Amino acid sequence: MEKLYLPEILKGMAITLRHALEGPKGKVFSYPEVEKPRAKVWRGLHVLKRDEEGRERCTSCGLCAVACPAEAITMTSAERTKDEKHLYREEKYASVYEINMLRCIFCGMCEEACPKSAIYLTDRLVDVETNRGSFIYGKDKLVEDVNNRIDITDRQSELQKKAVK
Ligand code: SF4
Ligand code: SF4
Repeated sequence: MEKLYLPEILKGMAITLRHALEGPKGKVFSYPEVEKPRAKVWRGLHVLKRDEEGRERCTSCGLCAVACPAEAITMTSAERTKDEKHLYREEKYASVYEINMLRCIFCGMCEEACPKSAIYLTDRLVDVETNRGSFIYGKDKLVEDVNNRIDITDRQSELQKKAVK
């Protein structure tokens, strides 16, 4: 009897039946029409932040890519010219920065590794796509819109908030 796992199967079925009869506990959301609210510290789609003057914070150091366990991040570095000081905060910047959303496991290691407070995960979702190539998110989708800033203060530790200038 024990060998056939019958008692365990019956126990499992009893639990399923009990839950079916009790109905749902808590609030039910009719997704996708109604989305369940997500916490501000929920780990979703990344943002590459700009500083208070609107310049890209990322200096293309590559630490996020090294820290990424899924090897989802790639970038190409470039040198800032003197005419680009209003665009990029540091002398080096990422001319190309890509995250493969099919590889990403939203662990947040990139966020933790960044010494420039340049990359954060947000409470936004990655869009549904119909081809694999569209899941490679470049700067056009990652860099913060200068006119539509994303508040990430809930994600930052007190130490991080003090370090960000
Ligand atoms: S969240 Fe994790 S898996 Fe995704 S890009 Fe960052 S480090 Fe890589
Ligand atoms: S996001 Fe941060 S860690 Fe990644 S390359 Fe830019 S500055 Fe470096």
